[in-house]
Amino acid sequence: MKDFVNRVVLVGTGAVGSSYAFALLNQGVTEELVLIDLNVDKSEGDAMDLNHGLPFAPSRTKIWFGDYSDCKSADIVVLTAGANQRPGETRLDLVEKNTKIMKSIVEEIMANGFEGIFVVASNPVDILTYAVWKYSGMPKERVIGSGTILDTARLRFLLGKYFDVDTRNIHAYIIGEHGDTELPVWSHADIACVSIYNWINQSEKFKRDDLDEIFMNVRDAAYHIIQRKGATYYGIAMGLVRLTKAILQNEHSVLTVSTYLNGEYGHKDIFIGVPAVVTRKGVREIVEIKLDKEEKEKFNYSVEVLKKTMGPVLK
Ligand code: NAD
Repeated sequence: MKDFVNRVVLVGTGAVGSSYAFALLNQGVTEELVLIDLNVDKSEGDAMDLNHGLPFAPSRTKIWFGDYSDCKSADIVVLTAGANQRPGETRLDLVEKNTKIMKSIVEEIMANGFEGIFVVASNPVDILTYAVWKYSGMPKERVIGSGTILDTARLRFLLGKYFDVDTRNIHAYIIGEHGDTELPVWSHADIACVSIYNWINQSEKFKRDDLDEIFMNVRDAAYHIIQRKGATYYGIAMGLVRLTKAILQNEHSVLTVSTYLNGEYGHKDIFIGVPAVVTRKGVREIVEIKLDKEEKEKFNYSVEVLKKTMGPVLK
């Protein structure tokens, strides 16, 4: 019988990385989990701590703190290393700092013969995903950013609360930059196949203007959380586990990840958050939603801002 073992290597065991490792172990997603960080003590301590939870986990996971040679037989390398947002700092402010960090990490990973899929979460995630693709030389399908996976989750949570319906019955996406220029696709948002606009028209307690407020709370959620506790990590950690599962279990799930556009949505040569089908081989295809005029303009603007910001660093 074939000895088939899934291995995830995590680079960056800070707040996001260690929360991801914890969530991964709790959901029993992978047989092997390797932790790497510049701060070796931290990753070694995390490996010890997580291993002590094994008797309570749903399945066996072999966890150790390792080095880049462990990437050779990895199925997925998840990148959560880098500086995070300081209060008042935008994700785009991080671009130069984190691009340099990514370059050195990706070069080490590739030098060790990695042939799997990169999952990128470090910010600014769309630009860093592009950077990882460029520095690694991997096919575009095998470099996936967390994109607007978290923003979409935040939107579904808030809509679920507003309409008092289970979030799993809500189909609504945030697309574009994971950041200030992202946008909700209201024209195709529905709950149980009924358009969000119909839900609003059906009852006086719902108002169209409330949708704007819901979106603002989604867009600015990171700022609100950072102001209160310095960083955000649980939501993204669970989003990354969702993405890891979709890949390892060959789910063909549609997730709003940061992926390479090659003409889709009218743009080329950019990684940005759009719905895409995720499989064991990476991104199989992009789902192209027919945006209305206003959404198209907002999406174009998001692309423009990303291109302008990454231009000086990556061209
Ligand atoms: P953190 O400071 O807690 O952790 C970062 C870790 O990276 C540290 O442990 C640090 O030692 C390590 N690191 C730095 N340089 C390294 C290198 N060259 N090699 C190996 N490890 C290195 O930060 P955090 O809160 O965990 O955030 C991590 C990243 O995730 C940030 O860029 C943050 O903006 C991003 N983030 C993304 C999302 C999303 O939705 N995509 C959400 C939250 C945070």
